[in-house]
Amino acid sequence: MNEKMKALGNSPSKIREIFEYSRGRKAIIGEENVFDFSLGNPSIPAPETVNSSIKKLIESENSVFLHGYTSAQGDMGVRQAIADSITKRFSVTAGANDIYMTCGAAASLTITLKAICNPGDEVIVLAPFFPEYSVFIENAGAVKTVVSTSAPDFKLDFDALSEAISKKTAAVIVNFPNNPTGAVLDNTEAAKLAEVLNKKSAEFSHPIYLISDEPYRELSYESPAPFLPKYYKNTIVDYSFSKSLSLPGERIGYIFVPDFVECGRDIYAAVCGAGRSMGYVCAPSLMQYAIKNCVFDTSDIAAYNTNRTMLYNALTDIGYTVTKPGGAFYLFLKSPSGDGNEFCERAKKHEILMVPSDSFGINGYARLAYCVKRETIEKSIPAFKALMEEYR
Ligand code: PLP
Repeated sequence: MNEKMKALGNSPSKIREIFEYSRGRKAIIGEENVFDFSLGNPSIPAPETVNSSIKKLIESENSVFLHGYTSAQGDMGVRQAIADSITKRFSVTAGANDIYMTCGAAASLTITLKAICNPGDEVIVLAPFFPEYSVFIENAGAVKTVVSTSAPDFKLDFDALSEAISKKTAAVIVNFPNNPTGAVLDNTEAAKLAEVLNKKSAEFSHPIYLISDEPYRELSYESPAPFLPKYYKNTIVDYSFSKSLSLPGERIGYIFVPDFVECGRDIYAAVCGAGRSMGYVCAPSLMQYAIKNCVFDTSDIAAYNTNRTMLYNALTDIGYTVTKPGGAFYLFLKSPSGDGNEFCERAKKHEILMVPSDSFGINGYARLAYCVKRETIEKSIPAFKALMEEYR
């Protein structure tokens, strides 16, 4: 067997580990008594259009067609609908042949990295970062370079990014709105990011691709997230409907390689090749057809916004240090002891389940996923108070 794969399989992600612990606790003390903030599983239903679209397809379409293979890169009509929505929403020209349908953002990322990287290439990630990036980058034969963002609001540190880019840098992965901090990028920062990448691409005489990992694109509460291909031409978008349409288990997303990307047609061909090499025959067909009718829809994210404000206000009142997140459904809480692991372990005694920030490449924090029922937040406040008392 492959020892590397065995080791990977034997070390499940910390998030999954806490999720399993929570199942055990819920079975013993009752679901309502566990304040489980561990998993980024959407807590609001998919919009009605998703269900009606699926029902209509099942009732009216030929079953052999509906459940059959689509083209490897996805059904042409579905890709056209997505491309049209991009053109309409962001005023960036997109065509069906710039879109490759995937099984969610995880597949979008593994395919994009495999398409772009050669052995030994470097890929920059911004800490704190989604833990699976490490696995995906290694799988592409590349090497991860970590650049820290600046606490307390975890904004991009442009000097640090500029310094970290070397002639071996193939790509930079960004994820705004961010998991785990909830940080968002504004238009000025998007322009500044483009400036740095253009300068470095010129310095090293090759394009440094920007991979925009966007499962939370629609979950931006104060203002819409900037669409990065508008700012930096060598951007590849890795999108997912997991969170925007509350469909994480259905595994559906896409890669957008704009036509104006340098070597764009070759990159798209490499995306098709990478997908093929990893056995992605096509994204689930029923889901492709279903989302074709929902490309302008999102789940009703008002409930997340309410949770965000409620939790942020309560935790700040208690005395915790936390920066108000602008997007996604995560809140990054500073450990009162300075140690994220110790904090999360201690919180468990109060039945509060959070993910220590070590999993995201930095120490000293805990991530709370606030995509939970409002009652969970309300009931958890006394427990957070009691937890803080232990540090006083
Ligand atoms: N990227 C980030 C930042 C995420 O938070 C997630 C999932 O939580 C993914 C990628 C993977 O998303 P998907 O479920 O669409 O594969």
